[in-house]
Amino acid sequence: MRIVGRVALLLVCLYAGIAATYSVRFLNGIARDAQTAREEQIPLILSQNRNALKVERAASLIRSVYLAHDRKIERQIQLQLQTLCQSFTLDENQTLIDGARDIAASVKLIVSTREAARRLRDPDGTEVTAEKGEQIKAADAASADAYQHAIRTADRLSETLATDALVLADNMASTIGSAAREVKLGWTLILTLPVLFFMMTLWVVSRHVVAPIGAAVARLESISGGHPEGEGPRTPIFHELATITGAVEAYGALSSDLTRTNALLKILSDRDGLTGLANRRSLQGLLDSTFQAAKSGGPEIGVMMIDLDHFKAINDTYGHHAGDACLVSVATALQRFEESDGVHIGRYGGEEFVALVSGCDERSLGDIAERICRDIMRLEVHSEDGRRISLTASIGVSRMANRSLDGVNQLVSEADTALYQAKRNGRNRVVFAESAVTVDMPKRNRQA
Ligand code: GH3
Ligand code: MG
Ligand code: MG
Repeated sequence: MRIVGRVALLLVCLYAGIAATYSVRFLNGIARDAQTAREEQIPLILSQNRNALKVERAASLIRSVYLAHDRKIERQIQLQLQTLCQSFTLDENQTLIDGARDIAASVKLIVSTREAARRLRDPDGTEVTAEKGEQIKAADAASADAYQHAIRTADRLSETLATDALVLADNMASTIGSAAREVKLGWTLILTLPVLFFMMTLWVVSRHVVAPIGAAVARLESISGGHPEGEGPRTPIFHELATITGAVEAYGALSSDLTRTNALLKILSDRDGLTGLANRRSLQGLLDSTFQAAKSGGPEIGVMMIDLDHFKAINDTYGHHAGDACLVSVATALQRFEESDGVHIGRYGGEEFVALVSGCDERSLGDIAERICRDIMRLEVHSEDGRRISLTASIGVSRMANRSLDGVNQLVSEADTALYQAKRNGRNRVVFAESAVTVDMPKRNRQA
């Protein structure tokens, strides 16, 4: 994990370095472009503007010289125009220089042809001949041509200057536009990449760190309830995490085994090994809880102590195995009574059984006890050599009968006393504790 941390830190530093270098590089480029615009483009545009104004002034002087008709004024304007055209030669714009020279030459021509015409018209007061008239007309026409030519040249120059200024402004706008696009793209990249990196990191962390931890936690939570459902955990990329999840998996499996073993042990600890009935320990728990429930207003309870008659003699006569078989048969017969509501059977010890009956009166209690005696008497159990083993049982019965008792053991003890009485009265019978009523079982059912 330490290595991954270092690599991540290195990547972040590398990225920051690249982003900073790139930013500095393109910001420098933008600064350079801005400087060029300030030092070259803008002065150029201003100079074009100045020249355009000069050309306009030149056009106005051309018109003035053409309309003057006074030698002095014409000379003055010609001088102004020459100075103006001279100033164009300071620029390195050849078109402008050539145009200025052209205008100066045309103006010179206007002035000279005017002068010639003037001289022809009235040099010394003599009349103008037809030939002179023709020469004057030609001079006026040449002057008009020169004027038209000068005006056209000024217009052309004005147009050229406007176009050049437009091109310059357009170049500047496109330079600024491309710089702005570069800034936009650069910062979009710089800002998008960390977001992508962050999202990728989130995905990796959630898939390979959070998911395994979540699965491990789910496993821990479901230990008591068995294996977690659904898809298994993702393979973690970190060695430490793999170890943790592996350990949790192993612990989970072990814990599930232990839970199953504990459940089995609980069943075994509550049951009698030979007959499968509730043993004395769990029977005592059941007696206590049912008695407490009865005391708190629950159904009445009755207790029966069931003891097999002359069982020692059966063991002695047919052997211990046969004795065990008799105990199992009796247990099976007694279990059938458990199917009816409110009857619980347990092996109290040796050849003694207890039936706990809740929710019945004396009459039905006696009825159940009699049926138990009869069923045991009718059991068909045979020894290994095929002889039928005759079984009978004596039963002592006690009831709560709305009495206030110290505990359930008082009922057990009363039933035990009644059982003793049943034995004394001749066995194979039912005796009720409180009334000491004895119910004999018919002798004809007994078989040797
Ligand atoms: P009673 O009619 O007075 O009850 O006479 P009993 O012989 O039944 O009573 P006793 O207490 O004298 O003898 C009980 C016998 O039950 C003794 C013992 O060997 C036998 N026994 C107790 N537990 C087992 C067992 O798990 N298997 C077998 N086969 N015999 C057992
Ligand atoms: Mg006994
Ligand atoms: Mg006995």
